[in-house]
Amino acid sequence: TSTVVAIDGPAGSGKSSVARAVAQALGFRFLDTGAAYRAITWLILEQGGSTDDEATVVAALDGLDVDVTVDAAGQRVTIAGHDVTDAIRTERVSAAVSGVARVQAVRSAVNERFREIIRVAEPGIVAEGRDITTVVAPDADVRVLLTADEAVRIRRRFGDVGGDQHQVGARLAARDAADSTVSDFLTAADGVTVVDSTHLTFDETVEAIVRLVTE
Ligand code: C5P
Repeated sequence: TSTVVAIDGPAGSGKSSVARAVAQALGFRFLDTGAAYRAITWLILEQGGSTDDEATVVAALDGLDVDVTVDAAGQRVTIAGHDVTDAIRTERVSAAVSGVARVQAVRSAVNERFREIIRVAEPGIVAEGRDITTVVAPDADVRVLLTADEAVRIRRRFGDVGGDQHQVGARLAARDAADSTVSDFLTAADGVTVVDSTHLTFDETVEAIVRLVTE
């Protein structure tokens, strides 16, 4: 039977890059669930729709195929035939994604797909997001809440995207505030191990999680 590693955490916690490296170290598959929410958001914006209008968001789900499965090495995200791997990282998408992720029909649709991906993953999978330890895969073999102090998360995000550090901080805090109305990813559920990367390097963080899987 395959091993499932679930990782949740706030924006800028390094979840994606850490989860990807953990998957690589273990030879597992990797699932970035945020990418699916981002891809749906991109599609609605691309079609000129309003991501604040629930009916528009629900209509966009019709017949949708979001492909987010991947090897740890090179995750490509495609939606409705478009490779949106880079396009989903823009500020335009980041600013709109929380509104889309709030729609329950969206969550049910993607969760069904995520559970199927996790179910068939061999020899294991690392899945990361906001509600993986609680909703998508509550019975995962290893469940981790990856956190870091907000100032550190902002500094790391700023190091990645540049721009105005104040604005980067405000956007990150706003997205966490919006997302926390949907799922409480700042509190570890029962049985979830907190890994606080505030004082850890990237490699130390990856090792700490790999150890939880192999020990
Ligand atoms: O992890 P990432 O920042 O790429 O996630 C983008 C957005 O997708 C989050 O801000 C949140 O609105 C949504 N999301 C979610 N549940 C997840 C993963 C992401 O609601 N499991």
